Amino acid sequence: MSLVASTPEIADLSAAGIDTTRDLADRIHVAGRWEIGTGGLIESIDPATGRVFATLHGATADTVDTAVREGLSAANTSGWATMLPHERAAVLHRIGNAIDGARDRIAALQTLDTGKTLTETRALAASAANTFRYMAAALETMDGGLTTPRGPWMTLATHRPMGVVGAITPWNSPIASDAQKLAPALAAGNAVVSKPPVWAPWVTLLLARLCEDAGLPRGVLSVLPGPGRTVGEALVRHPLVAKVSFTGGTSTGRHLAHLAADKLMPITLELGGKSPTIVFDDADIERALQGVLFGIFSSSGQSCIAGSRIFVQRSIIDSFTTELVARARRLRLGVGTDPATDVAPMISRTHRDSVAAMVDAAVADGAEVLCGGAIPDDPRLAGGSYYPPTILSAVTNSDTICQQEVFGPVAVVIPFDDEADVIAQANDTVYGLACGIWTEDYRRALRVGEAVDAGTVWVNTYKQFSISTPFTGLRDSGLGTEKGRDAVRQYSEQKSIYLDRSDAPLAWGAAH
Ligand code: NAD
Repeated sequence: MSLVASTPEIADLSAAGIDTTRDLADRIHVAGRWEIGTGGLIESIDPATGRVFATLHGATADTVDTAVREGLSAANTSGWATMLPHERAAVLHRIGNAIDGARDRIAALQTLDTGKTLTETRALAASAANTFRYMAAALETMDGGLTTPRGPWMTLATHRPMGVVGAITPWNSPIASDAQKLAPALAAGNAVVSKPPVWAPWVTLLLARLCEDAGLPRGVLSVLPGPGRTVGEALVRHPLVAKVSFTGGTSTGRHLAHLAADKLMPITLELGGKSPTIVFDDADIERALQGVLFGIFSSSGQSCIAGSRIFVQRSIIDSFTTELVARARRLRLGVGTDPATDVAPMISRTHRDSVAAMVDAAVADGAEVLCGGAIPDDPRLAGGSYYPPTILSAVTNSDTICQQEVFGPVAVVIPFDDEADVIAQANDTVYGLACGIWTEDYRRALRVGEAVDAGTVWVNTYKQFSISTPFTGLRDSGLGTEKGRDAVRQYSEQKSIYLDRSDAPLAWGAAH
């Protein structure tokens, strides 16, 4: 039992539906076995209070080797790799339903581990359930390809599992990130070794229990929490790992891309962002105000797609910013379990302090704080890792605070004159993840949406997702695509087969 005995919330955890003996057991999931890890001790801290609520022994590079080898063997001996698609799809369906059945438990656990509001963690659990069911449907309806013959053959384009897939995820939306990788990778018939983040490992372990209960063959999935540099890197370097899907920071992703290149392994990278959200003077202002606030301050700004650069057309910038700031000040900072909370604590003190340091540096460089900008001194928030919604002005797009991903509730407001100006400024970044456009003119929305380098563009809405719509990061925001019907193919190997249908042998050399 890994629960820290003196933690006063244990009774509350049980009341919240967390099965403390299973969901917080000091066990990692290695090729079907629940074992005490042989790696370092991970202390899980409740971001709302700063208290350690559980501890867990993590994995090591040796554990990765065991999980990969036994996972590969399990996928083959259990028949998972060769199972008919509709049979594998049935298991994925049951996993989706099991996630739905455990939705409140997942939400409570994730709120405890990440600090997020229960509203958000419930939505993430629902999204994960839908992802498993969608990938089941995609798998079941994925036709093999009979290609157009260009000779006396029948030509087939087929797919097969890759073997073992590594999934490395960050802490900001664990269950949804897990599902986005695990569901298509499992659908394709692979074994999966998941490396969840040290700061939020519990919900991925719970997902493994749900997969096990839903009938996923033993050993096909491993969940190995531990440090990225040892456990994550061992997974990427392992010779039997055929593909890695990584979500996290750009510098980590770039490093992993080098490792993948060395072994000629495909890698999908979902990385950071500094997304522009653009408010034209003809926008529905009420809609834009709500959308811009949601785009940056939901998830306490800890979102790769956060709309952190707010471009406002010069003719309305004063009135728009005044109202935006007034509303940002009214957002309620508090614990994720309180339904009245808008902005929950950040993942950790360390991360919160790095956000505060970035704001302080921006102010030292001349930025003006319109709201927030300092760690709150409210004694009720003293134990947690809180940071208030912060809006900065008097900046130019080339300033560090406008170029660097803050990954917290911090936005900059920047004026623009016209379409050409805002497109140039929006694209003046290394990132290319998302973009929001607020205008009532759909021709303009289309022009700007096409011109801005962003994998996802929202017009008159923001941070809305559908599993059926592909998600891509351009430039330093990523490599490859997740979600959508093609996701299962992304975890499959393409093979082509030529079946000769002519009576005549090949003519080559026949004259001798
Ligand atoms: P991170 O890069 O530090 O860590 C992400 C994961 O990689 C963790 O599990 C970590 O342990 C592991 N890791 C770290 N170093 C590693 C190494 N050398 N080898 C292998 N694995 C390693 O990122 P983070 O701080 O956990 O997450 C925040 C970042 O994730 C932000 O930049 C955010 O924009 C990005 N993100 C992107 C998306 C997207 O879809 N584009 C979604 C969510 C988060």
